[in-house]
Amino acid sequence: MTVGMKLTERLVPASRAREVPVVAAAQDVDEVRRVDVVVVGSGVSGSAAAMTAARRGAKVALLEKQAAFGGSAALSAGMFWTAPSVDAYRKRIPLGNVDLGSRLVGDYEEALAELRAAGVHVAAEPKRGIMTFGIGYSTDIHGILAWCRDQVLGAGGEATAGVVVTELLREDHAVTGVLVRTADGRRVQYEASAVVLAGGGFQGDRAELTRSIGPNADRLVLRSNPGSVGDGLRLARSAGAGGTTAMSTFYGHLLPYPLRSFDTENYLPYSQYYSGSTVLVNLEGKRFADETDGDELLNQAVTFQSEARGILIFDEFVRSTEVLEEPFPGLGSIDRLGVAIDAGALHASAPSLPELVDIISGWGVDRDHLTRTLDRYAEVAGAGGGTADGIAVAATARAPQSGPFYAVMVQPSITFTFGGIRTNARGEALDHDGGAVPGLFAAGADIGGLSNYGYAGGLAPGYITGRWAGTSAAERAASFVPNTRNAVGGRGSERNAQ
Ligand SMILES: Cc1cc2nc3c(=O)[nH]c(=O)nc-3n(C[C@H](O)[C@H](O)[C@H](O)COP(=O)(O)OP(=O)(O)OC[C@H]3O[C@@H](n4cnc5c(N)ncnc54)[C@H](O)[C@@H]3O)c2cc1C
Repeated sequence: MTVGMKLTERLVPASRAREVPVVAAAQDVDEVRRVDVVVVGSGVSGSAAAMTAARRGAKVALLEKQAAFGGSAALSAGMFWTAPSVDAYRKRIPLGNVDLGSRLVGDYEEALAELRAAGVHVAAEPKRGIMTFGIGYSTDIHGILAWCRDQVLGAGGEATAGVVVTELLREDHAVTGVLVRTADGRRVQYEASAVVLAGGGFQGDRAELTRSIGPNADRLVLRSNPGSVGDGLRLARSAGAGGTTAMSTFYGHLLPYPLRSFDTENYLPYSQYYSGSTVLVNLEGKRFADETDGDELLNQAVTFQSEARGILIFDEFVRSTEVLEEPFPGLGSIDRLGVAIDAGALHASAPSLPELVDIISGWGVDRDHLTRTLDRYAEVAGAGGGTADGIAVAATARAPQSGPFYAVMVQPSITFTFGGIRTNARGEALDHDGGAVPGLFAAGADIGGLSNYGYAGGLAPGYITGRWAGTSAAERAASFVPNTRNAVGGRGSERNAQ
């Protein structure tokens, strides 16, 4: 047991559930509640896990620490996408967990069909080439989240916001529930057959980020809901679950530098999605990545450059096309350079490249290095691609050639972490030896290895891994049904505990 109270009830087989005595009054807690499945976090993965468990007959408590439901999913653009095939997954994410990746790709159509059947908006036509390789459909993410909660409530469960899950309850080696702190300081104990961790990753925990990523983790701008601070990983470790590789890799987009302010409504418009069509140099005036890798990979590469800064250099052609275009439906066609300038970014424009280089050298960038970098890039790109100063130049690369020319300074951000809790493709949390931790499941950005440097998507993987965890959690609850005398009955309740 991890809290100062005595839990007298053990999980018992369903057939014996009625014979089991009610949970004894717990000490040191203000209230004891009994459900089948607790889900920690109400983003897309927690909502999907809770919905799935509820539709399989489980009484679910969906618990959210913030005042509002939805996590980063509620801030997202709603593009429900992932790799179009296992081969594409392997190619784009060679370091990814192929077991997880294969099942993710295999379950994608079924997940879409489930959403369509639920009546939430899913675009009729797919968008291809997302993040250079993915396939996806525009969705009403708020509709998805609301539908999931409604399934939970309809099955007699609860969805409560404003409560922080602080500890896992354990009996022997099994996870048997959670301890929760409400906004007014009450301690509530939820006893359950299964707990699903869906806290959204550890991007908000600077200490864990610094351990995993290195010193420049301090410079990553948080582009996430503020509640994902690694609770899931900490809770999982406390129950003996292991971690994964990919701990130093993450998803985010390049943002203007500096920024006067950065609020949730700036997350989408400030993202410099078009960086793959520019020449990206560091403060030494040198390239360090193949720009056509795409913005979410360049964002990680910039993190490891001096002062975690980069400079995008491009011409009028790029400015009048890629900079203005909507990367995918829902993001809007806006002038992302104009938005960056308004946001406070260091920027320049000039009629010729040498004049632009002059201005950039005033930012402390070595003029000779930068001139050589741009010359070599133009040479290699003009020859159909190859390598310039040791860095790949793609066959599709296009050097800046039609003035005016532009430069904008950028910095990396972090939306969620790719490393996390070790799980299998049933959503079971695994210990360091690969054995399942009884009663513990995880989903979404809390699990590690599905994306690793390469990015497999956020919403679809969150929804689909949530279904895995919800299914397994419901199965466990069905075979070990705890006493339900304290459970919420009839149609459940959605509330805010603050
Ligand atoms: C601006 C933006 C745009 C995006 N656009 C897209 C897109 O179009 N397509 C896409 O695929 N992905 C997109 N993403 C990424 C996507 O939103 C995430 O990958 C996805 O939401 C992760 O789902 P999750 O359920 O794991 O975490 P989240 O959705 O972040 O939810 C986690 C929740 O857990 C809660 N929580 C954490 N700890 C506790 C605790 N101890 N107790 C209770 N609750 C807790 C948090 O408060 C949070 O609400 C976007 C993200 C952002 C920020």
